Amino acid sequence: MVADAEHPLLAGLTVEQRDAVTSRASPMCIIAGAGSGKTRVLTRRIAWQASEGRADPRRTLAVTFTRRAARELRGRLRRLGLNDDVRAGTFHAVALAQLRRHAADSGRRPPRILDSAGGLIAELRPRADRAAVADIVNEIGWCRARLVVPEEYPEAARAAGRRPPGGRVDRFAQLFADYESAKGRRRVLDFDDVLARSLELMATEPKHAAAHRWLHQHVLVDEFQDINPLQFALLESWLGPDSTLVVVGDPDQAIYGWNGADPGLIDAVGEHLRGCAVLHMRTNFRSTPQVLAAAGRVMDREPQPAVRPPGDEPTVTVCDGSEEAAVLARAVRHRHRPGSRWRRQAVLARTNAQLEPLRRALVRHGIPVAAPNERSLIRRPEVAALLTAWPADASLASCTAETGQQLRDPDSAATASAGTPIAATPEARAGVEALMEFANDHLSLDPDSTVGSFRTALRADDRAVAPVDGVDLMTFHAAKGLEWPIVHVVGMEDGFVPIAHARTATAMAEERRLLHVAVTRAEQELHVLWCDRRDLGGESVDREPSRWLEMIGASRSPDDAESRKALNLKGVARARRAIADRD
Ligand code: ATP
Ligand code: MG
Repeated sequence: MVADAEHPLLAGLTVEQRDAVTSRASPMCIIAGAGSGKTRVLTRRIAWQASEGRADPRRTLAVTFTRRAARELRGRLRRLGLNDDVRAGTFHAVALAQLRRHAADSGRRPPRILDSAGGLIAELRPRADRAAVADIVNEIGWCRARLVVPEEYPEAARAAGRRPPGGRVDRFAQLFADYESAKGRRRVLDFDDVLARSLELMATEPKHAAAHRWLHQHVLVDEFQDINPLQFALLESWLGPDSTLVVVGDPDQAIYGWNGADPGLIDAVGEHLRGCAVLHMRTNFRSTPQVLAAAGRVMDREPQPAVRPPGDEPTVTVCDGSEEAAVLARAVRHRHRPGSRWRRQAVLARTNAQLEPLRRALVRHGIPVAAPNERSLIRRPEVAALLTAWPADASLASCTAETGQQLRDPDSAATASAGTPIAATPEARAGVEALMEFANDHLSLDPDSTVGSFRTALRADDRAVAPVDGVDLMTFHAAKGLEWPIVHVVGMEDGFVPIAHARTATAMAEERRLLHVAVTRAEQELHVLWCDRRDLGGESVDREPSRWLEMIGASRSPDDAESRKALNLKGVARARRAIADRD
């Protein structure tokens, strides 16, 4: 069938995109590069299939990798006139909603979710420091993602070339087993248990499984390159004879192998999803040819064809670590136009640890930032007060309805706790409204949710943020799927890019794809910054540029006349001499 190119939902799409929206093939996999419209096609497809009467939006499930992505998807669908019919959420959110539904249907208590896996590990290994606990949690996550049980760990770790935290495979396997039994004794589930339990229900409870498949007849998955074997098994279990499945992804953006994702699932999608039709989309709609040329060099590939007109070449700046924040602040301010939004710009770094000092420094330089910690919803006082005032076992739907009423009617005696109005200032109101939006998102997947389970979901989501205009600061990983007109990549040095602990060829290839993800977030401008010396662990150390730096451009030092004036480098030069003297 030739689709009507004039249809509003198809207008402006390329022929390839139109095919992806209108094709009846199932399963179908769309493999396409960054910025080629994969996520756009996913939303258009849901709306088109609904408008043609081919797929009931109320029986459609879109799976995304982060809640932020799920919210964006819902926002886009709303703009396409679909209201909140479509279910959109992460694997975890969908599975948790399923467990809760199952518990309600069988008259049991809803599952209890472990507050913090790290907390439990710290109890089991009191002498482990925070970094060690994080490594252990991560390694257990890898095992669960790969469906590896404690007894199989030594073998699996050897096969995958993994070094367990602490260095001893047998000790780690024992700790993993202790952790599993401790959860069992406390009758709590961690995140991976939620997925595993959902998988178990699909296999052992045919009536429940049939109802789940009926409710989620049409399944779409974004960012399929980062799916792990546990999620894939779950996805397969959700499909029945009447289901349709569309997955979209980009093998060049597979960045969660360290976490158990298996890029082999998209690379050999035809084997894993039997009879799968594969479509490609070639044109890039996001970035200028200059950004795409840099991205192509990073991956050692021909650049994607661009639709955007030419822009500026990427810039590369080298400075001393002591100047980094000032150079960055200046670059951000220089590109900020009065009346435009700060959130047109993003600062991306390889590690979380780099972000916090930069965030503080940018704030000191008078630049509003929107780092997750800065505006994490549950840490905002008005939101925390409200969440405390709502009883844990109360229905989330009735609490939000009541608060919504109070927001609409500011004259009512609206208080969160001890006489505090729920939205005394415009900022507080924005926080409460953001919370309400999150609550409604949560209810769309789980209409019977209690306040307690909503709190758990919020705590698990660092990216539950209130809308404040500010420069986005995030890691390369967190930036996946997002885009900004102007992107600043910082810390482009060996040790960060690639990260020091990437030693195997597989890890190195993933680091390179990770840089590719960062670069391809830029629509118009890409600015890269690296430091030839920085303070690390209280010592000043010389730094080498990233081995991939020259694929982006040649370094320019801010020691040119203009920058020197702006930065007052005399002070910096003094500091440098002092360091040199000390050495
Ligand atoms: P990523 O791999 O980074 O997730 P993607 O393939 O999902 O990227 P989208 O985010 O869907 O790409 O699209 C990139 C940008 O291009 C978005 O701003 C989107 O609105 C725009 N875009 C995509 N297709 C078109 C089109 N046919 N016409 C105009 N803009 C488009
Ligand atoms: Mg996308």
